[in-house]
Amino acid sequence: MDYSVARRRMVQQQIIARGINDSRLIDAMNQVPRHFFVDEGLRGHAYADGSLPIGHKQTISQPYMVAAMSAALELQGQERILEIGTGSGYQTAILAMLAKRVYSIERIPALAARARKVLDQLHISNVNIKIADGTLGWKDQAPFDGILVAAGAPDVPHEYLAQLAVGGKLVLPVGGFNQQSLIRITHLGEDQFRREELMGCRFVPLIGEAGWAETDNA
Ligand code: SAM
Repeated sequence: MDYSVARRRMVQQQIIARGINDSRLIDAMNQVPRHFFVDEGLRGHAYADGSLPIGHKQTISQPYMVAAMSAALELQGQERILEIGTGSGYQTAILAMLAKRVYSIERIPALAARARKVLDQLHISNVNIKIADGTLGWKDQAPFDGILVAAGAPDVPHEYLAQLAVGGKLVLPVGGFNQQSLIRITHLGEDQFRREELMGCRFVPLIGEAGWAETDNA
């Protein structure tokens, strides 16, 4: 299979055709080899229009969702980004190409280790990965110019607002266990935040102190 042809088709049909026109983001999605981030047996599906299993009951997000969430951060290149839910590391790689540095938190050690390995293979060096409960953010690296949460939260965890720089944007799915709304919150200054609803979505749960309980996902 010619992955670069499949990747260009993915970008044309799933990203550009759905209205995403940020040229830096389009370049990043044309460059990052998504098939590196899935198991060998699923590589033939890596550029399909959907999420795929990555083990541990988790998924690599749909390409369009990765693009839409990245676009919603409106990155210029100099930002420090907090990502919650490293998963496969694919979204991390895209963010790493669009921003200055990415701080990514994953709660499942085996996923964090695999993501680190693939990012190293691709020589993506502006990413710090930590194994922790990401619902508490990454306090000693805050504030962040952007926060992207790749798992569904019941409510907006307080620490994300506290760790968002003025002018920064937080993008996260909020709602029920199986269905959420993708929300963008912009820090306007002091205690002022603007909240926008971008689209409906369906993410695996954000599990932790300010998220769902582990037992909810049993
Ligand atoms: N964007 C990722 C990708 O493209 O591979 C997909 C992320 S997957 C949909 C959600 C990830 O969030 C899972 O790997 C899950 O283990 C992780 N997660 C859930 N709750 C978390 C928490 N409290 N802290 C850190 N990671 C969490």
